[in-house]
Amino acid sequence: MDNLKISIKSKHKKSVKNSSLIWKECLRIIKQNVSNITYNTWFLPIKPFELEENTLKIHVPNNFFVEWIEEHYNTLINQTIRQVMGHDGKLVYIINDDSDDDPTLFDNPTVEAPKINPKQEENNFETNLSPRYQFDNFIKGESNQLARAAAIAISENPGQTSFNPLFIYGGVGLGKTHLIQAIGNNILKKFPHKKNIYLSADIFTTQFVDAIQSNNVGEFSSFYNNIDVLIIDDIQFLTGREKTQDLFFHIFNNLHQARKQIILSSDRPPKDLKGMSDRLISRFQWGLSADIQAPDFETRIAILKNKGDSFGISLSNEILDYIAYNITSNIRELEGCLIKLLANASLSGKEIDFELTRKTVKEISTRKEANISIDNITKLVCEEFKVDENKVREKNRKKEVVLARQIAMFLSKKLTKASLKTIGLHFGGRDHSTVIHAFNNIEKLTAEDVSLNELVNGLRNKLELGI
Ligand code: ADP
Ligand code: MG
Repeated sequence: MDNLKISIKSKHKKSVKNSSLIWKECLRIIKQNVSNITYNTWFLPIKPFELEENTLKIHVPNNFFVEWIEEHYNTLINQTIRQVMGHDGKLVYIINDDSDDDPTLFDNPTVEAPKINPKQEENNFETNLSPRYQFDNFIKGESNQLARAAAIAISENPGQTSFNPLFIYGGVGLGKTHLIQAIGNNILKKFPHKKNIYLSADIFTTQFVDAIQSNNVGEFSSFYNNIDVLIIDDIQFLTGREKTQDLFFHIFNNLHQARKQIILSSDRPPKDLKGMSDRLISRFQWGLSADIQAPDFETRIAILKNKGDSFGISLSNEILDYIAYNITSNIRELEGCLIKLLANASLSGKEIDFELTRKTVKEISTRKEANISIDNITKLVCEEFKVDENKVREKNRKKEVVLARQIAMFLSKKLTKASLKTIGLHFGGRDHSTVIHAFNNIEKLTAEDVSLNELVNGLRNKLELGI
């Protein structure tokens, strides 16, 4: 018996050693692909546990880490594991809850097999819906009352109400994607045989371009003409894309005539969609347009409570009030604050108390105030574009310098209180009309180009939240 124990022990030691080597190699690759702050916050706290055949088990500080990593770095982690361990390499997360002798295991589902919803399997149809977006976890408030009520109504009766299309609009991080995906998820439950598809307008455009290139436009159109519930996110991405708009116009008409449900989201109301054809704008207004606004104090508290629960933490009223008073602009930012709080707590090994909360909120707000100067913006943008800072201040007309300069001007206008004149002065004494031109140009380019939009949003997040 003792012998057996010893051999198990030494086998375990060996697997621990191997797991360390493998994880070390994974970290080396991950480090090359993420920023330092991301690496330190999300990857360094992970510890390898053991290697069992082709499965690497790693310890993560809490459930929330798993969710965050899966949502943001799944592709990177999967590719890295495959690169280091070969194609059948698997990863299992173990929640490292000290009080628990029997740690919770989490398979990394996409390493093993793509997530398939059983209902989707039933009719073999990929909906692209993420199960995390439900009505149950969408907090109701004055800011989203109409949009939410309409969303629930059409999910009970798709295509049969006068809300067709349902057009949800509002600023970033206010819950548009959550709400329209919740409609899809509810329809999936109630009407599993309906062909229900969610996608963003930029994916729609990319698919269309691919279809043109491979001579498959007919097939592409007939696919969308046969959908029962079409959910398109961020429809503003179609602005300036005339061919895609033409095709979408026909699909819209076919579906609408056949009383199929159309659901759209946008960052602005239909009438403000510059670069969208008039006939589409008028169709967007056929059904119901409902906006989502920034959440009020009570809603912010309810959202924080709900998110805290889902991360497995309960926060005192004092802490909830403090965050809700200080973080007001949108829900993504509220979530960002909780995430940072959790990360700070796990990094320092401390409980979440008022002091840590105050520190974290301060970190976010100081970052917002201190880091958001025109000089800091310029520095960050130049680093991103690998452009010499002096060049953006000179009269350099090189393409990447102009783009970096315009993005820096754009972010300076968005994130600081500086006047157009002051911004112009920071960029080599240019006058205010140049700043306006830069602002308009970046607004247009980001509406047209998804990857540029992501890049600009990423810079903004770095400046505002440091994540
Ligand atoms: P948008 O698409 O408008 O930019 P999202 O739908 O992506 O915003 O929302 C940002 C984050 O905030 C998501 O994680 C989402 O789940 C959450 N969220 C937004 N609105 C609510 C709400 N009313 N209740 C709970 N969570 C919300
Ligand atoms: Mg969205």
